[in-house]
Amino acid sequence: MKVPKTLHARRTAQWAMAGVVVMIGVQFTMWVRPLLAGRWPGVSRPAGAEGFLPIDAMLAFRHWLGTGAIDAVHPAALAIFVGICLMSVIVARSFCSHLCPVGLISELLGRLGLRSLGRNLTPPKWLDVPLRGLRFLLLGFFIWAIWFVMDQRGVEAFLISPYAKVVDAKMWLFFARPSRLTVAVLGVLAVGSVFVRDLWCRYLCPYGALLGILGRAAPLKVARSADLCTGCRACTRACPARLPVHEMGRMTSIECTSCQDCVVACPVESCLAVRPPLVISRRRWLRPAAAVAVAVTLYVMVIGGFRLTGHWHTAVSEAEYHRRLPEISSPLYTHVRGVTMTERVPEGAANARSRRFAESPLPSGTDHLQ
Ligand code: SF4
Ligand code: SF4
Ligand code: SF4
Repeated sequence: MKVPKTLHARRTAQWAMAGVVVMIGVQFTMWVRPLLAGRWPGVSRPAGAEGFLPIDAMLAFRHWLGTGAIDAVHPAALAIFVGICLMSVIVARSFCSHLCPVGLISELLGRLGLRSLGRNLTPPKWLDVPLRGLRFLLLGFFIWAIWFVMDQRGVEAFLISPYAKVVDAKMWLFFARPSRLTVAVLGVLAVGSVFVRDLWCRYLCPYGALLGILGRAAPLKVARSADLCTGCRACTRACPARLPVHEMGRMTSIECTSCQDCVVACPVESCLAVRPPLVISRRRWLRPAAAVAVAVTLYVMVIGGFRLTGHWHTAVSEAEYHRRLPEISSPLYTHVRGVTMTERVPEGAANARSRRFAESPLPSGTDHLQ
């Protein structure tokens, strides 16, 4: 079957990003395993692994807004967070459908369900609506903890705490040596996503909730020309977000990820297209593949900007990792009910900042989300 150009462009971006993430995962594994065993690694630490530290990124973002300073421990986490937000605030929630590897897996599992079962299930409205609220509760909790419970000093202290310095290795351990509960939860989500498309994304992902809110103000969204529309509903049937596209004007819903599946499905040329506000043209304002290119380019520009200004690689030295990682299970690298441990540094130690310790309201058990 011929793959439509729009889908092809988006798929290319999704698989390219998935490939990058796999390479980062392999390199990070080759880096962290020897260090955890007290040996020196043969490869360098890939900064891109910080993309898996969304809470750390949100803390760094707050710190950046408050002080103008970029977190030196995980600068790439901030860069990736800003890139994701920028592309999603310009092309509505486009990170979800263009670059997120979890979104790609979710989409593939949903398509598997569609092919093997003939349809994806949708919970009834009375269940669907409250379930969709869960991710906003999670997002609200993190925003409350980061913006309203912690003060500026607390945020800075957390970002440079011993715990923060090894949190990427903790995240790796969470996935590389999962507990039975972790395996069970991931298994339920994977199998559930075959039956209910985008189970994690639609109901539980706080990142998706944030991008959905940011995307509401996006200047570039899919819009429908009512005067061209025949009312065939092909768009609505194709929409993975279960939106009634055939009766909407601009896709202002938080659920719309700008995937353009509806654009591909529409049999009428230019009826559906990515357009800026107030443009309801019979001509396509922006070709579908160009909209994909705009979103991806914004992300790449942000990452490039951080890299060019020297804010990509961590300031933590290999020697410091070599000293810390073999002791990662020490209480120094945990937080109990949100309080991180105090590090005692000998008098005269060069790095005075490392003597500070952090107090955070983040709950224990969120280590892997940092
Ligand atoms: S909702 Fe979350 S997991 Fe799903 S695609 Fe968006 S950011 Fe990725
Ligand atoms: S409305 Fe169109 S662009 Fe938005 S999620 Fe549905 S299919 Fe994708
Ligand atoms: S697929 Fe196109 S023509 Fe058909 S209802 Fe949707 S917007 Fe209208």
